[in-house]
Amino acid sequence: MFSSEEFINIHTHSLQTKPSISQIYSHSINGDLPSEGFFSIGMHPWHIKENKIETVLTSLMEMVTHPNVKAIGEIGIDRAIETPYELQEKFFKAQLTVSEHFKKPVIIHSVKAHSDLLFIHKSGSYKMPWIIHGFNANKKTADQLIKAGFYLSFGEALMNEQSKAFEAFPLVPTKQIFLETDESSYSIEEIYEKAASLKKMTVEQLKQKIADNFQTCFK
Ligand SMILES: [Zn+2]
Repeated sequence: MFSSEEFINIHTHSLQTKPSISQIYSHSINGDLPSEGFFSIGMHPWHIKENKIETVLTSLMEMVTHPNVKAIGEIGIDRAIETPYELQEKFFKAQLTVSEHFKKPVIIHSVKAHSDLLFIHKSGSYKMPWIIHGFNANKKTADQLIKAGFYLSFGEALMNEQSKAFEAFPLVPTKQIFLETDESSYSIEEIYEKAASLKKMTVEQLKQKIADNFQTCFK
C-alpha cells in the first residue's frame, strides 16, 4: 500500500496531501469519510463525555469495514483532563475490541498515561500493533514501551532540542518507530530530515525503514 518512495505520515489532522506523501488522517466517528485517502477512526478521550459507548461502537463497526480505514484511533487515555480514568478506560477498551476483531492497528493518544497503557496491554491478550502517537517521554519510558512491543511515533517534539523525545529518539530501535505531523506546522519532510540526522542515516534509508515498519504493522 505505502512504499519506501513516499514519506509515510502515520498521524495527521490535515487532509491536504501530495503525491510524495502517504498519510493516515485522523477521523472522528461522526460524519462521512472523505472520498480519498487513508483514515484512522475512533473516539478521542477528549470527546468521550458527549457520547454513549454503544453509539461509539455502532459507528465504529459501520465505518471500520471501509477499505480506506487502516487503523483505530486516535483513542487512548489522557490523565490531564477531568473525565474520570475509569470512564476513559472503558471507552478505550471497548474500541480495542474493534481493533482486535477487525485486525486494525491502534493509534494511541497518551497523556501522562504510559504506565496505564503498559498495564492494560499486559493484562489483556492484544495482538494488534499499538502505536503511541506524538511520543515525548524519557528514555526509560521509551524503553519499557519498546520492550512491551509498542511502536512510538515521533513528531514536532524532535524539532526541539530540549524535548524528551529529542533525547530518547536516537536510542529507540528504528524497527519500532513512525513519524507524524499531527497538528504541527512542520511538514513531514522536515520531520524526516531531522529524524534521519538524529539516527545518522539518510532520508532515503529512513523512508525504507519506516515503509518496512508500515508493512509489518498494516499487513
Ligand atoms: Zn492527533
